[in-house]
Amino acid sequence: MTVDLTPGPVAEDLARRTARFVRETVVPVEERLGGVPGSDDVRLELQRAAREAGVFAPHVSPEYGGHGLDMRDRAFVFEEAGYSLLGPLALNIAAPDEGNMHMLEAIASPAQKERYLRPLAAGATRSCFAMTEPAPGAGSDPAALATTAERIPGGWRIDGRKWFITGADGADFVIVMARTSGAPGDAGGATMFLVDAGNPGMRIVRHIETLDESLFGGHAEMLFDGCTVPDDAVLGEVDEGFRYARVRLGPARTTHCMRWLGIARRAQDIAVARAAERELFGSRLAELGMVQAMIADNEIDIAAAHGLILQACADLDRGGSGAQSTSIAKTFCAEAVWRVVDRSLQICGALGVSGDVLLGRFLRETRPFRIYDGPSETHRWSIARRVVRRHDAAHAR
Ligand SMILES: Cc1cc2nc3c(=O)[nH]c(=O)nc-3n(C[C@H](O)[C@H](O)[C@H](O)COP(=O)(O)OP(=O)(O)OC[C@H]3O[C@@H](n4cnc5c(N)ncnc54)[C@H](O)[C@@H]3O)c2cc1C
Repeated sequence: MTVDLTPGPVAEDLARRTARFVRETVVPVEERLGGVPGSDDVRLELQRAAREAGVFAPHVSPEYGGHGLDMRDRAFVFEEAGYSLLGPLALNIAAPDEGNMHMLEAIASPAQKERYLRPLAAGATRSCFAMTEPAPGAGSDPAALATTAERIPGGWRIDGRKWFITGADGADFVIVMARTSGAPGDAGGATMFLVDAGNPGMRIVRHIETLDESLFGGHAEMLFDGCTVPDDAVLGEVDEGFRYARVRLGPARTTHCMRWLGIARRAQDIAVARAAERELFGSRLAELGMVQAMIADNEIDIAAAHGLILQACADLDRGGSGAQSTSIAKTFCAEAVWRVVDRSLQICGALGVSGDVLLGRFLRETRPFRIYDGPSETHRWSIARRVVRRHDAAHAR
């Protein structure tokens, strides 16, 4: 299979304009705020500027005000947006809204698209995706899903507890995954529901203190306690939630790779600039072999991550599930981005851990990526199982 390593003409232009917009407009705001977006005013102001620069919402279809980029083209634009921690927020391509827009476009009814997708794509609303539960509920293993939805006259009643729900604070609606058949431990059936903020049966129990702070709205624990919703709150078909989660997760984990690869490129730029200026032991830091090795290893990790992302995009754009290639890209990128940021910080010495550069913040922001969208171990387990299945099929076992 051939993989096109170049963007189409629309994406090429958009990526160039995004790069300029992020460096000139977003990075100064990010540096002023230490990478933590804070208030909604910041989000709205950055999004207004992105609209003015013509780079807003590149992923959604033109019908909803975007540029309708396919996955391959997204890679080039999202990497440029990811050069700043606040770039994705400015372009309205940050998690979890970006993944939710993708899923709503693919699955929602026409009425749901008008009500939820259109304002979300315009940046007028925010959303979150509630799947993970405190132990013993769903985490790496979705089959442990314990939140239930039971039919009641005219709708459904949802009960359960979710945690680590990014962006829940201030979200206008929640896409919640609940069990509608079977029992925790067996696959059974799950269903996705659209729950509006203000539903008296849904509330935030606490804001979880975490290592990372740049994802807008933080991460919350939520309680669904007799949360009733009408029939038209069902997203897609009843009992098809696990299948829809895969519709969301393959592309969503790949776009996460794109955004974090942007931060890896930024870290490398900071480190190279420092190594090119700093004099040590009678030469520039950049001319000392062990520093050259770190710079080269960064470049290799960045290039390999970019290639694996494009491979995954090619599979998704062809309409495949991309199960294997997105798992491979996600596992490699999450670990490579961490390595690049860590080496870059090392090259900068004490400056690297200071607040004068954002490398320490980048480390904190990228570390959780080895856990969400599937921990590395879950992906390695799935990758190996597919390889062994392929072997068994080839040898007719
Ligand atoms: C910053 C952040 C944001 C998040 N945002 C969201 C969100 O918006 N919505 C949402 O629903 N969830 C969210 N999550 C939750 C995330 O999806 C889960 O943390 C993830 O699925 C892992 O589940 P868990 O934490 O329950 O870990 P567990 O399932 O308890 O796994 C613990 C560890 O077990 C190991 N492990 C897992 N599988 C295997 C295996 N097959 N073989 C060997 N070892 C294995 C791994 O080391 C893993 O880290 C977020 C998490 C974080 C950290």
